[in-house]
Amino acid sequence: MTKCKAFAVVADGWFDGEVFHRQRTSLRIAGGVIEDIQPGDFGVEAKQADLAVARVPFLMPGLVDAHVHLFLDGGPTDLAVRSAHLKKALDELTEAARQSARASVAAGVSLVRDAGDKHGINNAIRAEAKEPGSGLPQVRSGGIGIRAPKRYGAFMATEVADQDTIRKTTVRLAHENDEVKLILTGIIDFEAGAVTDEPQFNLDDVRLVVETARAEGRSVFAHCSGLKGLQIAAAAGVGSIEHGFFMTRGVLETMLKNDVAWSPTFSPVHAQWANPAPMNWSEQTIGNLARILDSHAAHLKLAHEMGVTLLLGTDAGSMGVEHGKAMLTEMRCYLDAGLPLEAVLRSATSVARQRFGEAYARLEKGAAFDAFGYARDPAEGIEALARPLAGWLGGIPVSL
Ligand SMILES: [Zn+2]
Repeated sequence: MTKCKAFAVVADGWFDGEVFHRQRTSLRIAGGVIEDIQPGDFGVEAKQADLAVARVPFLMPGLVDAHVHLFLDGGPTDLAVRSAHLKKALDELTEAARQSARASVAAGVSLVRDAGDKHGINNAIRAEAKEPGSGLPQVRSGGIGIRAPKRYGAFMATEVADQDTIRKTTVRLAHENDEVKLILTGIIDFEAGAVTDEPQFNLDDVRLVVETARAEGRSVFAHCSGLKGLQIAAAAGVGSIEHGFFMTRGVLETMLKNDVAWSPTFSPVHAQWANPAPMNWSEQTIGNLARILDSHAAHLKLAHEMGVTLLLGTDAGSMGVEHGKAMLTEMRCYLDAGLPLEAVLRSATSVARQRFGEAYARLEKGAAFDAFGYARDPAEGIEALARPLAGWLGGIPVSL
């Protein structure tokens, strides 16, 4: 590993991943990790020690986007462009994934959880990102996911038909990936305003995936919306429910009991509601989208009050959901739902790191210096986090 030179960062205020510190603080970084944190300005000390000093008005840990698909480009909203993208050659898709990863960093993200791609490009980017100086966020990869034959999820998952295949495939995927992605349901039919198809797997099958993955030391994250699927996912004790539209209090209670986290991903539905023109949604469908988002917000608030673990994720790569940029939309949705700023930022930093078993969840002594400097405190408006002024990954400055 290339040893990066020691330097200091002085911030007028900062958020460590759990709480705000509204006083000037100095951090000394050596070998890519935080060596010391002191209140005040150790400019004099830094001068004596011949340390370079970077000054930022506000410092944040790198954000975590807990749900992305790096190989998909969320920018285009034209269906033909999107399906042409999926047919691109592997090297082009890999380059697209690199660009998504870089776009995430430009928005202050230093860790993404990739929720599946059928080529396993996410695993290739995970390997590249481990190289110091890559300029890429760390990738917690779901590799290739699991789905039922001929059901939703072809772009991100392989088919499993029976219990024997479920077992064998889960073991293989658990070895290759950081988590096992399970496609438990289809997606929302916006025109119907509901999830209209049956879950892809029953409770026994999902329990088999969860237990097989657990025996290999892995947790399962389940793509799931609609009451039937949610009840199965919560009862089976998956690691996290992804999307979780049409959530209920009863499902949240089971999630709490079984320690199931929730990544609500407002962004893909919000994108359809905010920009209905490309899909030509009718007034009635736009009404459905608004109703779905309102109910989602009410259940997010409830989940927060109940103490359900919340992982902020965007589903970047979905139509209209751009890597990096979507974090601000998602955080705004949490704030609009009535969550306090501190809870939103925790959900986008330390909660995810803790859940993912990172050695350090906060900016603290010993932690890798994955951090971004901003012109303003996000308490003055979440837009303050739209564009970092400076950033470091493993203590190495990134170009923004
Ligand atoms: Zn997804």
